[in-house]
Amino acid sequence: MKSTTKHLTMFTSFLCFYFIVSACSSLKTVDFETPVDTTNKHIKKQTKKIYGLPGVGIYASNDFDGARLNGFQKENDSTALVIINPENGPINNSAYYAFKTWADTDRSFYFTFRYPKGYKHRYIPKLRMNDSWSIIDSSHIFKKDSIITIKLNLSTSPTTIAAQEIQSSTDVKNWYTTIANGKENYIKIESVGKSTLGRNLPVLDIHNGDTKNKDVIVLLTRQHPPEVTGYFAFQSFLKTIINDSELSKQFLKQYHLLAFPIMNPDGVDLGHWRHNAGGIDLNRDWSVYNQPEIKKAAEFINKTLKKNKSKLLLGLDFHSTWYDVFYTNKKRENTTLPTFIDDWFTSLEKNIPNYEVNEQASNSTKPVSKGWFLYGHDAVGITYEIGDKTPKDSIELIGRVSAQQMMNILLNK
Ligand SMILES: [Zn+2]
Repeated sequence: MKSTTKHLTMFTSFLCFYFIVSACSSLKTVDFETPVDTTNKHIKKQTKKIYGLPGVGIYASNDFDGARLNGFQKENDSTALVIINPENGPINNSAYYAFKTWADTDRSFYFTFRYPKGYKHRYIPKLRMNDSWSIIDSSHIFKKDSIITIKLNLSTSPTTIAAQEIQSSTDVKNWYTTIANGKENYIKIESVGKSTLGRNLPVLDIHNGDTKNKDVIVLLTRQHPPEVTGYFAFQSFLKTIINDSELSKQFLKQYHLLAFPIMNPDGVDLGHWRHNAGGIDLNRDWSVYNQPEIKKAAEFINKTLKKNKSKLLLGLDFHSTWYDVFYTNKKRENTTLPTFIDDWFTSLEKNIPNYEVNEQASNSTKPVSKGWFLYGHDAVGITYEIGDKTPKDSIELIGRVSAQQMMNILLNK
């Protein structure tokens, strides 16, 4: 074979190989009215350390996963300044903080929170003592203008103070490993890949028996690290689907569930206010997939659908905001489940005492998951938001009943 022909043949084979590979892994981009630049932006890392206040005998540490403390200074003999900064900006005012503090001897001490200009205190402090969390007593919170000071009774053993209960990537892993234990016949814990900093991106692949042609439901959570109340609803929702009740058994015979328990493990462990390690709001990357967390999840979902010749029916993305709200798409006709939203909300009100659904409907213009479900799959996409202050027992109830009613509706469709 002449050298030029040989090169041409090699080149052609390379091209064929390239197209085969790219056809397998290619992810179709999804267009949105208002694109968002999701290429990496710089983040400022915290210095992990133990801070001590000179001459006072008070200490603070951010040396653990989920911590956020950017500085700790003496204001006077009874007060410390707690300096909290976001990972980068501009950013939503999700002013997350978490640190441990202790003293040389038992004593009370005051802590004043300081945020950069333009940001202010948002979350009521939660305290971890021994292994349980509680909300700080309101008599220990002092407000002057928008500046918050709290009083803590310190001892030589550290108390953890955090904006929300800390649920690090390790905590999340312990949780899903525990709930899947003994259910290996229908729950497979898989990995869709690695985050920017190499943390695992897990998915629970849940189905009873064959997956061929089974319609798929996707659950997502923790794109935004401090949104722990949304994660609690996700936990309650998922636990209800796998609780081995008759409803659950019937449901998992017919449907295939993909549940992503931690979409942004780097942001969670780094104590970020909102972004991932690439400095990006992941819930704006559901268009061109610049960030590995979204790219890997979307690839896994699409690959699962293709392999099983399945349809994506419904995507629920669990978040937190100021109050409970379901963000829905206005467009319902020609989606996989045109009446689902109305049916679901009606049955939630019927089955939760004194509960009124708060729905805000608008078609996504920015690249969020709810829009990706709609424009990318003609599926129903819902952002399932729980209030920052919604009590745990209400979250548990809403999560459980919303899962039961979803299963009922899908089994009767
Ligand atoms: Zn969110």
